[in-house]
Amino acid sequence: MITPVLPASPESIRRAAAIIQRGGLVAFPTETVYGLGANATDAEAVARIFTAKDRPLTDPVIVHIAKAADLDSVARDLPPAAHVLTAAFMPGALTLVLRRAARIPALVAAGGETVAVRMPSHPVAQALIRDSGVPIAAPSANTFSRPSATTAAHVLEDLDGRIDLILDGGAATIGVESTILDLTVAPPTILRPGGIPVEAIRALLPDVQVAARYLGVETAAAAPGQMLRHYSPRAALALYTGTDDDATLARMRADIAAAQAAGRRVGILVSDDAAHLTAALTADLGTALEVVSARLFAALRDLDAQGVDLIVVRWTRREGLGAAIWDRLVRASNGRVIVVKP
Ligand code: AMP
Ligand code: MG
Repeated sequence: MITPVLPASPESIRRAAAIIQRGGLVAFPTETVYGLGANATDAEAVARIFTAKDRPLTDPVIVHIAKAADLDSVARDLPPAAHVLTAAFMPGALTLVLRRAARIPALVAAGGETVAVRMPSHPVAQALIRDSGVPIAAPSANTFSRPSATTAAHVLEDLDGRIDLILDGGAATIGVESTILDLTVAPPTILRPGGIPVEAIRALLPDVQVAARYLGVETAAAAPGQMLRHYSPRAALALYTGTDDDATLARMRADIAAAQAAGRRVGILVSDDAAHLTAALTADLGTALEVVSARLFAALRDLDAQGVDLIVVRWTRREGLGAAIWDRLVRASNGRVIVVKP
């Protein structure tokens, strides 16, 4: 182990802030997932994030601020909706896409004119941003295309020796990334479902749209080539869905048996279907949506650590956090979505 992992005390947070100020990289806990932070106003520091993660420069990163008053220092021409949403959901798991202020280098936004901004509620993230005295650019603290990191140990697994420090603040409580809402387009559009449910945003912003790729399983399954491989375990992941539980579970049982007969090590992500699927390694996701989202990425890494070749999972819920969980599973499956008809 080369990169130090420090419990997030006031002293270690000050040390982390000094690293950010001199252009280094610090992984830190937030309520969604761990972030990999750099000074958002320093293009060279931001460039280091992409190198450490093996992230393509075409994938923009989110800028984190500590208080609403700082919105004006990273974005400009805020629309009225930005103030409404800030009052309702910040700090919290909502990211707003706004027009980028000149102070934020283009690299943060993959060259575009916009900037994605979030105000995390996690006290360690808040303290780090305040102590640093600058906005912090931070994507998730994992190697690009791997499941996001929800613990300091998972950050270390991916980024040891590539970053300067990891602040350990325990497991992330929400466990999936923020909801991203683009306010630079009309109507405002949700680009990624996440920790704040679409329904909660729609209650304040009735004309909000959801990007087409999230609208239905048919869209997701029909265009696997369009999907960036993301959140992926090393094992192949097969995602099952369907309105008829019995038919879906029967299909899964048959596919699991066939894979095992072919000598493959199968792992199951179990939510509420534990009793119906047996004879394979399992990782328990729990049942309540908040529990499933908190455990999801760790469960993918856990099955990988057990050396499975194939992960199967059934997911049907789309309400609240269910939409974010569905999205992460679809992308982890790399388009391998099996829609079981009754
Ligand atoms: P991560 O925090 O690793 O989930 O990555 C940040 C994600 O935020 C990117 O993959 C984009 O999908 C999104 N994002 C960041 N900046 C922008 C932006 N300016 N416009 C649209 N989406 C953005
Ligand atoms: Mg990410």
